[in-house]
Amino acid sequence: MLLNKNNTKICLTCQQFECTEYRFDKNDKVLVLDFYSKQHPDEVICNYCGSNSIEVHDNNTTLLKDLPIWAGIKQKLSVWYHRYKCRECNRVFSEDIGFKDPDARVTLRAANAIKELLSLGLSISSVSQYTGIHWDTIRKIHTHVMEDALETRARLLKEQGYKPTYLAVDEFAIHKGHTYATCVMDLETGDILWVGKGRATEDFRKFFLEYDMDYLSNVKAFAMDMNASYNKLVEEYMPEVDIVYDRYHMQAQFGKEVLGVVRLNEARKHQEMAKDIKEIRDGEIDPDIRRKLKAEYNEEQKAYSTLKNSRWSILTNSKNLADSRKYALNTILEEHNDLAVCYAMKEEMCRLFELSDPKEARDRWTSWFEAAKESSIDALVHFAELKQKRLEGLISHATHPISTGKLEGLNNKIKVAKRVGYGYRNDDYFFILVRYISMPHNFMLIPRKT
Ligand SMILES: [Zn+2]
Repeated sequence: MLLNKNNTKICLTCQQFECTEYRFDKNDKVLVLDFYSKQHPDEVICNYCGSNSIEVHDNNTTLLKDLPIWAGIKQKLSVWYHRYKCRECNRVFSEDIGFKDPDARVTLRAANAIKELLSLGLSISSVSQYTGIHWDTIRKIHTHVMEDALETRARLLKEQGYKPTYLAVDEFAIHKGHTYATCVMDLETGDILWVGKGRATEDFRKFFLEYDMDYLSNVKAFAMDMNASYNKLVEEYMPEVDIVYDRYHMQAQFGKEVLGVVRLNEARKHQEMAKDIKEIRDGEIDPDIRRKLKAEYNEEQKAYSTLKNSRWSILTNSKNLADSRKYALNTILEEHNDLAVCYAMKEEMCRLFELSDPKEARDRWTSWFEAAKESSIDALVHFAELKQKRLEGLISHATHPISTGKLEGLNNKIKVAKRVGYGYRNDDYFFILVRYISMPHNFMLIPRKT
């Protein structure tokens, strides 16, 4: 219905509203349809006391954003409505606009279309471009959808008498790594229970102050990285809960701070040796000796680059190494005692995390730390001295074999969230989004309760 104002009369009705006029702004490409209420006070009952003795108090106009009929042309509904006054209780209330979204100044059909487009995975800015509706309005609608779904999920879990048993906490980079957030996950359901800005101890304290601790009264163990001070707060607020240090963080740190350091030390020794040989070689010496020195020099250089390139083989679990790699690794280890010791300690550490008997775990972790401290390898001694303070949290892995691994898996979902919310610096929105996408899929499209 391409409208020509001179010879076409339009008459659209929607509930008690009627539209006979439109305005088109060529410059801004906005089409405004004017709707007027035809409701009579006799048809109305008081919102507060239910009385049907109502009069018109005054009139008002609101501008609702709508979906475009024509691509590229923004559409708005100007709605002229009554405000009523109850003769019984004297209160004033607005006429109900049935096609308006309850939370935003958009039409219901626009709100529904926005929800549909977002659920297909379109980003907020794409939806904003398509509908011509400001992205802040879209974010607002999306927030309501997510909050409703989260509330519904929480209510249903509570009704079933469900309470979490195992939790995990970890930090995440947001906004290209400049700022951080701390997440707490229910390890059984995968739900993110809480997201807070920052990664300092005091940032995490908010979790214990804000969250419903009664819901967490059955928690047995909490998985975490030992480097953050998460443990202190768990001890303070949940003294009955066992702390379990995450094996993957521990192994990664050992790889970096022990194996990495020792490997590069050894590599550097070869490099220095090569340099010394080169100096002698370049002096005035017998040609035969020079040839010999050249061969030695090449050997040292080769050993240096072999070590430099062995990072992956050393860090990978030996079970997963191909035979040729294993052979090359063994050659390296045979020639470098410190590295061989640290490598053996790494393999033993992996086995310690497979134990399920707490008593055995205590004995073997204690032996592991003693051996490490007696190694006189600086990096290993230092690592052991630091980590032995956390012995109890390492042993409790035998009783509760949990980790923060599942929480790491959320990283990919967070990438998706960043894409959907692209361009937003609104942390609250982003945090709700993270919790929302951590829910099981069937909860994510729950229609709004009206
Ligand atoms: Zn009333």
